[in-house]
Amino acid sequence: MRTLPLSATLLTLTALALPCLGATPSSPKRDRLFPKPVQNQHIRHIVIDPGHGGDNLGALGYHATQEKALTLEVSGFITAFIQRHSNIRVSMTRHVDRAIALRERPRQANALKADALISLHCNASPNPKIHGMEVWFLDANASAGVVHEFVRREEGLPKQGAAAALPWTVGGILSEMRYAAAHKRSQILAHSLGKGLKRGRPGARFRGVRQAPLGVLKEALMAAVVLEIGYITHPQEGLALLEHQAHLELARGVLLGLVEMDRVVAQQERGRATAVGGPPAKRTPQPAPSR
Ligand SMILES: [Zn+2]
Repeated sequence: MRTLPLSATLLTLTALALPCLGATPSSPKRDRLFPKPVQNQHIRHIVIDPGHGGDNLGALGYHATQEKALTLEVSGFITAFIQRHSNIRVSMTRHVDRAIALRERPRQANALKADALISLHCNASPNPKIHGMEVWFLDANASAGVVHEFVRREEGLPKQGAAAALPWTVGGILSEMRYAAAHKRSQILAHSLGKGLKRGRPGARFRGVRQAPLGVLKEALMAAVVLEIGYITHPQEGLALLEHQAHLELARGVLLGLVEMDRVVAQQERGRATAVGGPPAKRTPQPAPSR
């Protein structure tokens, strides 16, 4: 990726930093997709992790965009949107431009006992024609070169020997019961977000749900995914991602995804309850207490 002139970078950072100060959706009115606040039963607390930060700039795109600044701005917007339109509590791993170690991110979510972790990123490619959103969750055995390159770039691994270093102990981790349960939930979250994003941001391409051995997801004890909101190396998408409309559509997509996940989890819980104890007994009306 070419290095951008410092003046252009600073200009973009300033432009991106200002809306962050009060990063709230502009209209206090109800959203057209959420005329009433969402009332989730199961997915009640999520953590949004704005990717990169501090010395770790992430990808650099057209229009002098730095991934670390855009992830922070969009995460702030999505957080405010979800809190306004639902009963879901949202925590963020960082609110300012600061470095956070990769494993610190899931550990924060674990400490908060969150129901889901969404690590938010912008994608980049040497091919400027590639565009679209992706959702990734953990996989022990992703061996394709393209996956290695993706993980290397997102996690700042050296080019040399990255392929050998990647799968580390994911297989061992997933064999542990508590991580295996989280992994199942991650798959539900990934597909739910996919559905939500397609509906919330219909004009953008959804490139699919994918799997990779991502360190940022490795230690999460809850549903955890990496959400790539689009390619900042694509001339049009890179520009669109700086706009309010894209942030609003992404926020709608994420909330729709969380509603969908809540529905799927509720369905599974009902199925489990039926399997264990049979169908719930019908309530017989109680006589009114005599006075
Ligand atoms: Zn990233």
